[in-house]
Amino acid sequence: MASSLEQLLRRARHILVATHVSPDPDGIGSLLAVGAILDRIGAEHTLLSRDGVPYDADFLPGIERIVTEAPALFDLAIVLDCSDPRRIGSAADRLSEAFVINIDHHPTNLLFGDMNVVDVSALSTCQIVYRLAATLGLSLTKDVASCLLAGLVGDTQCFRIASTDQRALDDAAALMDSGADLGAAARGVYGSRPVGHVSLWGAVLSGAVWEGDIVSASVTLAARRAAGVPDDDDAGIVNFLQSIRGTRAAVIFSERSDGATGVSLRSVPGVDVAAVAAEFGGGGHRQAAGCTVTGSMADVRTRVLARLRQETDGTSIGRDSG
Ligand code: AMP
Ligand code: MN
Ligand code: MN
Repeated sequence: MASSLEQLLRRARHILVATHVSPDPDGIGSLLAVGAILDRIGAEHTLLSRDGVPYDADFLPGIERIVTEAPALFDLAIVLDCSDPRRIGSAADRLSEAFVINIDHHPTNLLFGDMNVVDVSALSTCQIVYRLAATLGLSLTKDVASCLLAGLVGDTQCFRIASTDQRALDDAAALMDSGADLGAAARGVYGSRPVGHVSLWGAVLSGAVWEGDIVSASVTLAARRAAGVPDDDDAGIVNFLQSIRGTRAAVIFSERSDGATGVSLRSVPGVDVAAVAAEFGGGGHRQAAGCTVTGSMADVRTRVLARLRQETDGTSIGRDSG
């Protein structure tokens, strides 16, 4: 596949490389790494992140090259860390103009590409890009290794998630061999919160609700704006809720400015939140998933919590959504 991939990349006139809205270090890290690979090949490209660069990826080298609008023309698109092409934003409407390479690790991936490089056993898209670079015979620079390690650190919560495996640790070690600094990645991703998060955490956590082993909380637009936090920034609160003793599922409901409600879900192994999110038009991983649902927070909250309750009650234990 390497040679056919390399041919595709070399033949393209202009390549759109895009990651998902509300991006994370895995999306931005893989975007920057693919950009560097295309530079080495000499392929003309644009790096698109519709929502720009979040605080937990803004330490990565090369972010000034990322734009928020798609170019006028592209004949090849590389979509990174997206289970569904609509996750890149409105540029998705133009993907039919191009040959699409879908590089992702979500079990809910729709296999929408003309070429699908989807590895659901990878804990991050960055690890898939790392392997592609090796297949293309490219050695990693320190900058590319740093971007890839940041994605791996981000998607594994710094190697703390239950599915953290030996490959993740081996890949991290290999990236460190290429010059990436693990301490810097951990600090950049987890030690760089904007101060507004403190006010938002205060407002949101004071309203957290426990229903048995499910904990939920809501983020209103008013609370976000009072804290000076951007509309699509959930401030990592759901991961904190999931860390509370006895919690089997945590969920954050976020009021969006377009009237929809964002839902962010986390769970322990055995509770499949990807299945819950997929039923509401979203996706993700078994233990970390999300969806955006049309409707008020109160309405979406009732519907999602009812479905989540079925999942934690064990009605679907043993089901494999992957
Ligand atoms: P988050 O809660 O935003 O950190 O997202 C957790 C996981 O769910 C990530 O792997 C996301 O890619 C995925 N995810 C979040 N929102 C959506 C959505 N609207 N559609 C599909 N996947 C999503
Ligand atoms: Mn992501
Ligand atoms: Mn990812």
